[in-house]
Amino acid sequence: MSGKEKSYIDDAFESNWIAPLGPNIDAFEKQLAAYAGTADAVAVSSGTAAIHLSLQLLGVGAGDIVFCSSFTFVASANPIRYCGAEPVFIDSEPDTWNMSPIALQQALEDANHKGKLPKAVIVVHLYGQVSKMDEIISLCEQYEVPLVEDAAESLGSTYKGKQSGSFGKFGIYSFNGNKIITTSGGGMLVSDDVELLKKARFLATQARDTAAHYQHSSMGFNYRMSNLLAGVGRAQLEVLDDRVAARRTVFENYVGAFSDRSGISFMPELMNTKSNRWLTTLVLDEMETNTTISELLYALTAANIEARPLWKPLHLQPLFENCRFYAHAGDESICEQLFMRGICLPSGSSMTLIDQVRVIDCMNDVFDRAEEKSIQSA
Ligand SMILES: *Cc1c(COP(=O)(O)O)cnc(C)c1O
Repeated sequence: MSGKEKSYIDDAFESNWIAPLGPNIDAFEKQLAAYAGTADAVAVSSGTAAIHLSLQLLGVGAGDIVFCSSFTFVASANPIRYCGAEPVFIDSEPDTWNMSPIALQQALEDANHKGKLPKAVIVVHLYGQVSKMDEIISLCEQYEVPLVEDAAESLGSTYKGKQSGSFGKFGIYSFNGNKIITTSGGGMLVSDDVELLKKARFLATQARDTAAHYQHSSMGFNYRMSNLLAGVGRAQLEVLDDRVAARRTVFENYVGAFSDRSGISFMPELMNTKSNRWLTTLVLDEMETNTTISELLYALTAANIEARPLWKPLHLQPLFENCRFYAHAGDESICEQLFMRGICLPSGSSMTLIDQVRVIDCMNDVFDRAEEKSIQSA
């Protein structure tokens, strides 16, 4: 928390707006839309709900297909199934670790050939790194497929100076507890299409027709954000840029600490983009470092330091066992390689330098021991 959340919550209590509507919601939506550079925004109960609404608004239904990045958290793709549609997963590419335009092109060509284009493409900006938007947008325009940006992890990241989430037909953000700013739980749907966002508000509040007697002619959802939590969001948004700066510093500290070691590659930052560095992530060259991700995770866990492997690609999940997958090049799956060799390090914006040095020392111990082992065996 930044410290100012309480005063917005107090406002809500004093004005008795303890509901999924009220002044904090209106203000939070306006401020976030202004930040993102979109015409409007709709505050909802989660990022997942925002993705679901975007697909509903694009008319995704039973029997449809939707393309989605494979290298992501499961919430990017679950809403495709909520709509009765099937995901087709697209590999990553090495420069951004995000959706490969080469694989996307292949998938679109195939779909076009079969006469069944996807109803939408969901592109994910993982760990704060924006995807290759010029290439992806131009492919989507060529085939006239609407683009949804899952910017749950990339609020505050930019591509050629423009905010992630503001490029597609829809963008979504998450304010879950683990994201760069939080309302404890919540999300936002953004777009330049004000009419569709009006419809989103309608769908998110049980799709009530204009009648006093609760009349319904379409199926809606209970997806609006509470006015209390929107108060938290307003205060959090005020410190977003500080949070981005803090996370970027955390990243720079890690990079600096391991700059003399070979075999460690941090997530790149594409030219003309600025990542919020939500998480600091890296891949290990296991030959060069003589270490595995498992050894590193084991040592960190033993030192009571929380670290994780990278997201397991969705096309490898039992849940999506039978779904199609388009690799970046031939049989070579980039996201599988990243998953096998990658790790997320502790990256919180309130992390102190002392905390960080503890993580770095623990990792250096592992690398030093591995180096000795390899010298002895040589
Ligand atoms: C967190 C996250 C979501 C879901 O957001 P919630 O607010 O937790 O529902 C979706 N996609 C990605 C990539 C995420 O990291």
